[in-house]
Amino acid sequence: MAETHTGSCHCGAVAFEVETDLEMVMECNCTHCFRTGVWLTFVEPEAFRLTKGEEAIQEYLFNTRKIRHFLCKTCGVETHGEGAGPDGKVNVAVNVRCLSDIAPFSVTPTMRFDGLHQI
Ligand SMILES: [Zn+2]
Repeated sequence: MAETHTGSCHCGAVAFEVETDLEMVMECNCTHCFRTGVWLTFVEPEAFRLTKGEEAIQEYLFNTRKIRHFLCKTCGVETHGEGAGPDGKVNVAVNVRCLSDIAPFSVTPTMRFDGLHQI
Protein backbone atom coordinates (compact mmCIF):
# COMPACT_ATOMS: atom_id res chain seq x y z
CA MET A 1 0.00 0.00 0.00
CA ALA A 2 1.34 3.42 -0.91
CA GLU A 3 2.24 5.58 2.04
CA THR A 4 3.55 9.11 2.23
CA HIS A 5 7.24 9.18 3.08
CA THR A 6 9.46 12.15 3.76
CA GLY A 7 13.03 12.58 2.68
CA SER A 8 15.82 15.07 2.29
CA CYS A 9 19.39 15.57 1.19
CA HIS A 10 22.09 15.31 3.85
CA CYS A 11 22.21 18.97 4.88
CA GLY A 12 18.44 19.41 4.72
CA ALA A 13 18.38 22.17 2.13
CA VAL A 14 16.32 19.94 -0.19
CA ALA A 15 13.29 18.08 1.19
CA PHE A 16 10.45 16.14 -0.37
CA GLU A 17 7.41 13.95 0.17
CA VAL A 18 6.67 10.89 -1.90
CA GLU A 19 3.82 8.43 -2.05
CA THR A 20 5.17 4.96 -2.60
CA ASP A 21 4.73 1.37 -1.48
CA LEU A 22 8.50 0.80 -1.76
CA GLU A 23 7.84 -2.57 -3.35
CA MET A 24 10.38 -1.99 -6.08
CA VAL A 25 13.76 -0.65 -5.06
CA MET A 26 16.37 -0.69 -7.78
CA GLU A 27 20.11 -0.86 -7.56
CA CYS A 28 21.85 0.08 -10.81
CA ASN A 29 25.41 -0.48 -11.96
CA CYS A 30 25.66 2.47 -14.35
CA THR A 31 28.69 4.70 -13.93
CA HIS A 32 26.69 7.27 -11.96
CA CYS A 33 24.47 5.13 -9.71
CA PHE A 34 27.27 2.78 -8.78
CA ARG A 35 29.52 5.62 -7.68
CA THR A 36 26.88 7.48 -5.73
CA GLY A 37 25.23 4.39 -4.23
CA VAL A 38 21.65 5.50 -4.85
CA TRP A 39 18.81 3.03 -4.55
CA LEU A 40 15.87 4.13 -6.65
CA THR A 41 12.14 3.70 -6.61
CA PHE A 42 10.05 5.09 -9.43
CA VAL A 43 6.85 7.07 -9.05
CA GLU A 44 4.60 9.15 -11.26
CA PRO A 45 5.27 12.89 -11.05
CA GLU A 46 2.00 13.46 -9.12
CA ALA A 47 3.29 11.21 -6.32
CA PHE A 48 6.36 13.38 -5.69
CA ARG A 49 6.38 16.83 -4.06
CA LEU A 50 9.41 18.96 -3.44
CA THR A 51 8.68 20.60 -0.09
CA LYS A 52 11.88 22.62 0.24
CA GLY A 53 14.87 23.77 -1.71
CA GLU A 54 13.98 24.24 -5.35
CA GLU A 55 16.72 26.91 -5.49
CA ALA A 56 19.17 24.60 -3.70
CA ILE A 57 19.11 22.02 -6.49
CA GLN A 58 21.79 21.54 -9.08
CA GLU A 59 20.92 19.54 -12.18
CA TYR A 60 23.41 16.99 -13.48
CA LEU A 61 23.26 15.38 -16.92
CA PHE A 62 25.53 12.79 -18.49
CA ASN A 63 25.69 10.24 -21.29
CA THR A 64 22.58 10.69 -23.46
CA ARG A 65 21.51 13.54 -21.13
CA LYS A 66 17.99 12.14 -21.02
CA ILE A 67 17.96 11.53 -17.29
CA ARG A 68 17.97 14.63 -15.11
CA HIS A 69 19.74 14.06 -11.81
CA PHE A 70 18.93 16.54 -9.06
CA LEU A 71 21.62 17.12 -6.46
CA CYS A 72 21.84 19.47 -3.53
CA LYS A 73 24.28 22.29 -4.30
CA THR A 74 25.55 22.28 -0.73
CA CYS A 75 25.98 18.64 0.28
CA GLY A 76 25.97 17.00 -3.15
CA VAL A 77 23.43 14.33 -2.29
CA GLU A 78 21.11 13.29 -5.11
CA THR A 79 17.55 13.24 -3.80
CA HIS A 80 15.79 12.37 -7.04
CA GLY A 81 15.93 12.30 -10.78
CA GLU A 82 13.61 12.47 -13.72
CA GLY A 83 13.51 10.62 -16.98
CA ALA A 84 11.20 9.37 -19.67
CA GLY A 85 10.65 5.66 -20.10
CA PRO A 86 10.44 3.90 -23.46
CA ASP A 87 6.80 5.05 -23.71
CA GLY A 88 7.84 8.69 -23.33
CA LYS A 89 6.16 9.03 -19.96
CA VAL A 90 8.21 10.94 -17.38
CA ASN A 91 8.77 9.27 -14.04
CA VAL A 92 10.50 10.47 -10.92
CA ALA A 93 13.28 8.28 -9.58
CA VAL A 94 13.49 8.83 -5.85
CA ASN A 95 16.66 8.00 -3.93
CA VAL A 96 15.31 5.65 -1.27
CA ARG A 97 18.45 6.25 0.77
CA CYS A 98 17.27 9.84 1.28
CA LEU A 99 14.06 8.80 3.06
CA SER A 100 14.20 10.09 6.63
CA ASP A 101 11.22 8.20 8.05
CA ILE A 102 12.39 4.63 7.51
CA ALA A 103 15.03 2.73 9.44
CA PRO A 104 18.26 2.62 7.43
CA PHE A 105 18.44 -1.17 7.03
CA SER A 106 14.69 -1.77 6.73
CA VAL A 107 14.70 -1.50 2.93
CA THR A 108 17.08 -3.17 0.51
CA PRO A 109 17.09 -3.38 -3.26
CA THR A 110 14.57 -5.78 -4.78
CA MET A 111 16.09 -5.74 -8.23
CA ARG A 112 19.29 -4.94 -10.06
CA PHE A 113 19.39 -3.05 -13.34
CA ASP A 114 22.30 -3.44 -15.73
CA GLY A 115 22.47 0.25 -16.47
CA LEU A 116 26.16 -0.01 -17.31
CA HIS A 117 25.22 -1.78 -20.53
CA GLN A 118 21.66 -0.58 -21.07
CA ILE A 119 21.78 3.18 -20.57
ZN1 LIG B 1 22.03 19.23 0.98
